[in-house]
Amino acid sequence: MTPTPNTTTPGFCRDCLAEQKGEARRCMACGSPRLVRHKELYDLTLAHIDCDAFYAAVEKRDNPELADKPVIIGGGKRGVVSTACYIARIHGVRSAMPMFKALEACPQAVVIRPDMDKYVKVGREVRTMMQELTPLVQPLSIDEAFLELGGTQRLHHDPPARTLAKFARRVEKEIGITVSVGLSYCKFLAKVASDLQKPRGFSVIGREEAVEFLAPRPVTTIWGVGKALAATLEADGVRTIGQLQTMEETDLMRRYGSIGQRLARLSRGIDDREVHLNDPAKSVSSETTFFDDISRYDELVPILRSLSEKVSWRLKKSGIAGNTVVLKMKTADFRSRTRNRKLEDPTQLADRIFRTGIELLQKETDGTKFRLIGIGVTDLCDPARADPPDLIDQQSTRRAAAETAMDKLREKFGKKTVETGYTFGSGKRDG
Ligand SMILES: [Mg+2]
Repeated sequence: MTPTPNTTTPGFCRDCLAEQKGEARRCMACGSPRLVRHKELYDLTLAHIDCDAFYAAVEKRDNPELADKPVIIGGGKRGVVSTACYIARIHGVRSAMPMFKALEACPQAVVIRPDMDKYVKVGREVRTMMQELTPLVQPLSIDEAFLELGGTQRLHHDPPARTLAKFARRVEKEIGITVSVGLSYCKFLAKVASDLQKPRGFSVIGREEAVEFLAPRPVTTIWGVGKALAATLEADGVRTIGQLQTMEETDLMRRYGSIGQRLARLSRGIDDREVHLNDPAKSVSSETTFFDDISRYDELVPILRSLSEKVSWRLKKSGIAGNTVVLKMKTADFRSRTRNRKLEDPTQLADRIFRTGIELLQKETDGTKFRLIGIGVTDLCDPARADPPDLIDQQSTRRAAAETAMDKLREKFGKKTVETGYTFGSGKRDG
């Protein structure tokens, strides 16, 4: 971002798109301060786009009364925060925080149960717009993706940077939510960049500044460096990326195994991973990380239930079924446990996924503390053969019928409920 003397740094206004000559702080055409300037602005082609506080933004869009209020999207008393809007974040609310803690921090928050149907729909609209920019869109989740825009200049009559700024404007205008854009020469730094100025950000990290930019940052900035590895590095006296930059790749690999190579390369801004189209889904799963570790079976069960419902819902929406249920857990000391069970018939039902999940869970709850639980299905197939009536277990058939009836009601009336922080937890059970 440092202007270079004697040459004009390319730049434009993100509001009116006017090209900027010189170094003025406001746009020469419209007076907006939202300018982007960078020496490599028109050479960089790899972007990471991330919607800002996505679920909360969608709810605020649909209910203008929420605009100035702290809004938390989350799963009830036992649940955790999925998304907090920026106002709630000022009060200290964070994603994955248990709801009761979030409401301690921000009792006036409006809590809204997630309406995944709606978010998926809006996420698809955003993705469709991305695909109009380039065919090379690699989604990372419902609301973020990498885009490779090299070679699109002729199509858009604009360099990627301007195409991206136009895109951000168009999303605001036509969809009514905001995005942040990171533009760089590699995935790692594009993703770091999109996070620098949120919300409504547009950040550029060029080749020339990469090493210097990264040096003072904590090692956790590097993709794949979680709490455990950060603690190991810290114990070895390594806190910043700059320290990694002084260490040899072979040395890092000897000390930390295969991740050592990543540490060496990413710390120096070397990342050759290309943007590619995702493979079609091989599994459908949902997982959650706890704010505080959980060991008790009876505390894990309701979480497993709601995760099973999410998985089931996604299967039903995508018109697929799964033959094998997978339970995934991560212990407090970061060991992963995966348990599978093949079903007699493929399923789409939350009830079957959940019941298989708790059978697997029972064997794992031996006092071990867990930090993460997830459930999913693999061996995906067409749902035609899924969930035949169970002639032996009539109860199961009845529950399946009840679930189908519930799905129909949800389709018809929607499943959104709004609760405020004050009424929350007043003996209401969360399903
Ligand atoms: Mg996001």
